Amino acid sequence: MTDNAGTRRPPVLILDDERDMCELVADVGDDMGFATQWCDNFEDFACRYSIDLRGIFLDLAMPGMDGIEIIRFLGDNNSAAHLVLMSGHDVHVLDAARRLAEGRGLKVAGVLHKPFVLADLAALYDILAAVDDPIRPAVAERAASRYVPDAAALDAALAQGHVTPYFQPKFGVADRMVKGAEVLARWIDPDRGIIGPDQFIPLAEKEGLIERLTGTIIDQALDQCRAWRGQGIQPRIALNLSPLSLRNLDLPEVLLRKVTSRGLFPDTITLEITETALMSDYTASLDVLTRLRMRRFGLSIDDFGTGYSSLKQLQHGPFTELKVDQAFIAKALVEEGSLAIVESSVQLGHRLGMKVVAEGVETEAQMAMITGLGCEEAQGYLLGRPRPAEAFEWE
Ligand code: C2E
Ligand code: CA
Ligand code: CA
Repeated sequence: MTDNAGTRRPPVLILDDERDMCELVADVGDDMGFATQWCDNFEDFACRYSIDLRGIFLDLAMPGMDGIEIIRFLGDNNSAAHLVLMSGHDVHVLDAARRLAEGRGLKVAGVLHKPFVLADLAALYDILAAVDDPIRPAVAERAASRYVPDAAALDAALAQGHVTPYFQPKFGVADRMVKGAEVLARWIDPDRGIIGPDQFIPLAEKEGLIERLTGTIIDQALDQCRAWRGQGIQPRIALNLSPLSLRNLDLPEVLLRKVTSRGLFPDTITLEITETALMSDYTASLDVLTRLRMRRFGLSIDDFGTGYSSLKQLQHGPFTELKVDQAFIAKALVEEGSLAIVESSVQLGHRLGMKVVAEGVETEAQMAMITGLGCEEAQGYLLGRPRPAEAFEWE
């Protein structure tokens, strides 16, 4: 997003259920030097949303989508973007929406009453060009040097409920239907936006905060499952466990209680353990893993191919699923060695009676490759990014 002069083109996101309208608003923005993206549904919007947006064009009247809920989403995410509210409704609706947005701490650059003339649209882009870059003063400096949180900050975030689960869909390879969701932790910081787990899981493990973190993520994810079941959905989820959790001999009982007390069933829940974690203390892990399996939880070996588990350990381990690490999927079509690892992992998983999942699938070519190899499930940006529960669709 830089032009020839090296200056950054301000990013703008457009949400309208009418694609023609999206294209029109995007074309004018592109001509005026913005980097526009558009989408016609909330799911894509939630995925493309980022903290550094300069402006958001938001249609308030979309079938099956509630502009007001989107305003709430932006408020919850402390969006610094300047909003342009669009609607064919009368001006009172637009005014009410503007007040609501401002009440939630959002900035409103203006409203567009449909149908509008291009000059009005261009005038709003002029306003977006003139306002300060929202991330520059507040966030940019800190974002530029990757944020390194400390234990006190993470402790406070946990206490304030800022660490929450996102859900990434797992798809059947044959029918491309959603089979489940992997729960991935996100720290939603009011100033910094979304912080990924790579920036705080190792810290939590080092500082003795991982139990609390795991606990809150699991509780929130299970509460969400109960809510989904209330809507007639039969959710299946996968939870990531830290190697440290496997040292807790009470884990199987504690987890089972969390699950059954919400009217849920352990056979709808898979626990993902990385191959490297498994190797760190195989005997102790095996104790806990076996007892989890006896309580009918699914068990998945995550990031398979990055550790050095022996065939014997795999053969005797109680695993139900093998996830081929995304690094091998990424390189398999350009590097013989990676393809060989993917192929043999799939075969090994199948020979030992496990379901095989390919993760990090980003292209149709990779999808075709794993289909040919017989993987059962796929996960990756091609099919769906991690997203908050409100934006997750089971069908
Ligand atoms: P993971 O379990 O291997 O999770 C998959 C990671 O790959 C996620 O990163 C996901 O966002 C990302 N990803 C998914 N599809 C694609 C794709 O197509 N391309 C690319 N390039 N990446 C993709 P994320 O969310 O940053 O998580 C990183 C790691 O943090 C996870 O790796 C997992 O090991 C750990 N983690 C996440 N949530 C938790 C948690 O609640 N507890 C524990 N203990 N660990 C967690
Ligand atoms: Ca995982
Ligand atoms: Ca993985």
